[in-house]
Amino acid sequence: MTSTFPDLPVVVIGAGPVGLAAAAQLAERHLPFLVLEAGDGPAAAVRDWGHVRLFSPWRYDIDPAAARLLEQAGWIRPDDAALPTGAQLAADYLQPLADLPDLKPHLRYAAKVAAVTRLGLDRVRSLGRENTPFLVRLADGEDILARAVIDASGTWSTPNVLGAAGIPAHGETAATAFVESALPDVLGRDRDRFAGRHTLVVGAGHSAANTLLALADLAEQAPGTTVTWAIRAGSPARTYGGESADALPARGALGSRLRDHVGNATVTLLTGFSVDSLTADGDQVRVSGGEQTVSVDRIVAATGFRPDHTITGELRLDLDPILGSTRALAPLIDPNEHSCGTVPPHGVDELTHPEPGYYAIGVKSYGRAPTFLLATGYEQARSVVAALAGDWDAARDVQLDLPETGVCNSNPVDGADSIDGCCGAAPSATEPAGRGLATGVAGGLLTAPLTLVTLGGEPAREQPGTCC
Ligand SMILES: Cc1cc2nc3c(=O)[nH]c(=O)nc-3n(C[C@H](O)[C@H](O)[C@H](O)COP(=O)(O)OP(=O)(O)OC[C@H]3O[C@@H](n4cnc5c(N)ncnc54)[C@H](O)[C@@H]3O)c2cc1C
Repeated sequence: MTSTFPDLPVVVIGAGPVGLAAAAQLAERHLPFLVLEAGDGPAAAVRDWGHVRLFSPWRYDIDPAAARLLEQAGWIRPDDAALPTGAQLAADYLQPLADLPDLKPHLRYAAKVAAVTRLGLDRVRSLGRENTPFLVRLADGEDILARAVIDASGTWSTPNVLGAAGIPAHGETAATAFVESALPDVLGRDRDRFAGRHTLVVGAGHSAANTLLALADLAEQAPGTTVTWAIRAGSPARTYGGESADALPARGALGSRLRDHVGNATVTLLTGFSVDSLTADGDQVRVSGGEQTVSVDRIVAATGFRPDHTITGELRLDLDPILGSTRALAPLIDPNEHSCGTVPPHGVDELTHPEPGYYAIGVKSYGRAPTFLLATGYEQARSVVAALAGDWDAARDVQLDLPETGVCNSNPVDGADSIDGCCGAAPSATEPAGRGLATGVAGGLLTAPLTLVTLGGEPAREQPGTCC
C-alpha cells in the first residue's frame, strides 16, 4: 500500500512491546511515524505488572528489528535463556528501545487516543474514503492526521467483569471499591490493601495463580491474612497444570505450590462458583455464586481482559462476533481450539479490516482470546509495516519461531473454566464451543515443533507457546 499522503505519519497507538516493535520496523523502513502512548513512559501496562515473571525467556521477548537498532547503539542483549520480570522487560529492553535516537523523537507520552476516524467522514460515508487521511483525536482534544493507524493499545485497561455472564454481577458496579484488577503487587506496592485482610481471588488462569501464591506468602508474614479462591469449574486441575511434568519448571512449580496451599488450607477453594451478586456489608462485601456465599474484605478479579473497540467506533471494522478479533484471525486463535502455541503465523492478510490502513496488532488483535504471545505480535508488526511500505512479498512471508516447550493448554479438563487461558479467564463457557476448523499451520511456517504439557497432569504432544 503506497500512501496517498507521503508526508503524514503512520500513527501507532500504544508504546507497549508490540507498538514499539512496530516503531522499530517503521524506523528501519524509513516511514514517517508517531507513537502515541497514554502512560507517562513506554510500556505502561507492562510496568503495572512489573512484579510478575514472564514464562517466555528473553529469546522470545525481543523483536528482531528492535534488537538490530539497539545493537547498533551498543546495547548488550540479556541472556536469551533467562526469564525476565515485567519490570526487567521494561527497564532492560523497552526503555532503551524507546530512548534510541531513531524512535525517541517520534514518541509522545501522556497522549491518550480518544477516537480514530476519517477526516470529515463518518462510518457511513463511502465516497473518497480511501483517499482521506485518518483523524486521530487525543483525550485533550488535539487532532492528528495519519496516513495509516496501527492500534497496539492492548487490553490491560479493560478487564473482564466478575459476573459470570460477561456483564457485571448484580451490585458489582456499586461495589467497585472492594474490587482489584488482576495481578495487584500483593507483596510490594499494594501490600497494605491485603495484609491482615480476607481476599477472594476469582479466576482460574495464571493471573489468579500468581496472586494466590503471593497472598499465601503474605499470610505467613502478616497475621490475619486470609485467602479464598473461587472458580467456575468443578476442579482446579487446569490451573495446577502439568506440575513436575511441566516442560517449564517455573510454571510447573507454580501449580504444585498452589495445590499445596489448597491442601493445607492456606487457600480455601470454592469450586462451581459463578459470581452473580456482590453486596456491600459494612467494611466487607458479600459475594454470592449460586448456593454459595462468602464475605471478604477485598476481591481480585483475575477474569481476563477484553479489547476496547469504542475508540474505533467510526471505522469500518469486521469483528468476529465471538472474540472481537478480525474474522480471518478468529479461527486461528479460538481458545476452544487453540493454545498459545498452536496459533499459526499470521500477518497483514489476517489483520485487514474493511477500513483500509487501520490494523489492530498485539494483544488487542486477539480480542478476548487469552493466548497471545509477544513473538506472534512482533511478526504481526513486521508484516503490517512491510505492507504499509508496499513490500507485499515480505508482508506475506509470515514465519514464527516459538518456544519448543508448551505452557498453554488446549485440552479442556472439566467444563466451566476449561477454556481459561494463560492470563485469565477466556470467554464464557456458555459460548459456542469450537468452529469446527482443523488446527494447523496455514499460510506460513511454524518453525518449532512442540513438546508439551497438558494441564490435566498427563504430559502430551502439543504446540509450543509461552504466555502469561
Ligand atoms: C502478567 C502477564 C504476563 C505475561 N507473560 C507473557 C510471556 O511470558 N510471554 C509472552 O509472550 N506474553 C506474555 N504476556 C502476554 C503479552 O505478551 C503482554 O500482554 C504484552 O504486554 C502485550 O503487548 P502489547 O504491546 O500488545 O500491549 P500492552 O503491553 O498492553 O501495551 C499497550 C500500550 O498501549 C497504551 N494504551 C492503551 N490505550 C491507549 C490509548 N487509548 N491511547 C494511547 N495509548 C494507549 C498502554 O498504556 C500500553 O502502554 C503476558 C501478559 C501478562 C498480563
